Amino acid sequence: MSKTKVQTVEEKLTNLYKLQYLTSQLDEINTLKGELPMEVSDLEDEIEGLKKRIVKMEENIKEVEHEVSRHQSNIKESIELIERYKKQLDNVQNNREFEALTKELEYQNLEIQLSEKKIREANDRKNTKNQTLEEAKARLSLKNKDLESKKTELQEIIEKTENKEDALMKKKLRAEKNVEERLLLSFDKIRERTKNGLAVVTIVRGTCGGCYNAVPPQIQIEIAQKKEIIACENCGRVIVADDVATSVDKIDRSESPEEQERRRQMIMANDDMDD
Ligand SMILES: [Zn+2]
Repeated sequence: MSKTKVQTVEEKLTNLYKLQYLTSQLDEINTLKGELPMEVSDLEDEIEGLKKRIVKMEENIKEVEHEVSRHQSNIKESIELIERYKKQLDNVQNNREFEALTKELEYQNLEIQLSEKKIREANDRKNTKNQTLEEAKARLSLKNKDLESKKTELQEIIEKTENKEDALMKKKLRAEKNVEERLLLSFDKIRERTKNGLAVVTIVRGTCGGCYNAVPPQIQIEIAQKKEIIACENCGRVIVADDVATSVDKIDRSESPEEQERRRQMIMANDDMDD
């Protein structure tokens, strides 16, 4: 603490709450900064997967096309054989030869039918695959557009939050100077062991706003009196009176939680708390 001026307990509590208020805003920014890049990288992964699937589908379709052309050349071969056998039939010498040729002709006709059937089946498969491919391509272009706008959004948010973060950091440093060393140390210590990062809280419906354990009525009265710094018996967080908190964050705690949250968001968006 740089100032030599002796602070009243109420001033100490107000300064502590102010430090908490600024720190919580910085925590929120850090969470936001962590979540958005994740959304972008999830989308990038999805696009990568989609691209791989499209390549595989195209390979599959090529395989089917090869299959079709193989059957087509089989048919061509059979037709040539049939023509040759028919010519041979004209010059047939005996019954056995005639029967053998007729059998061959029958066989080649069956071969043609079989190949035609296989071509139809392959073409059906190809159509289905083509449809799936088109759908995947449409999805890919949608996801690409999605990614572009997410990236732009991320860039904007990063720029905006960086400015805000800088401003908040400066305010926080100033706020720290108004808090005693030992209180600062315990502030950091409590924050380290809590998930919500709250070291200074208010009473919420008769409970500690940090751990939600009941605050005895006698303690609640003492908190309201602001004659000493009082910590939650359960979690050790400093508990300040509502009016102390309101003097810092301008939130009316007699309003509904939804209304308080709405106000909080509005104040956060408009920024700038006077120091
Ligand atoms: Zn508590």
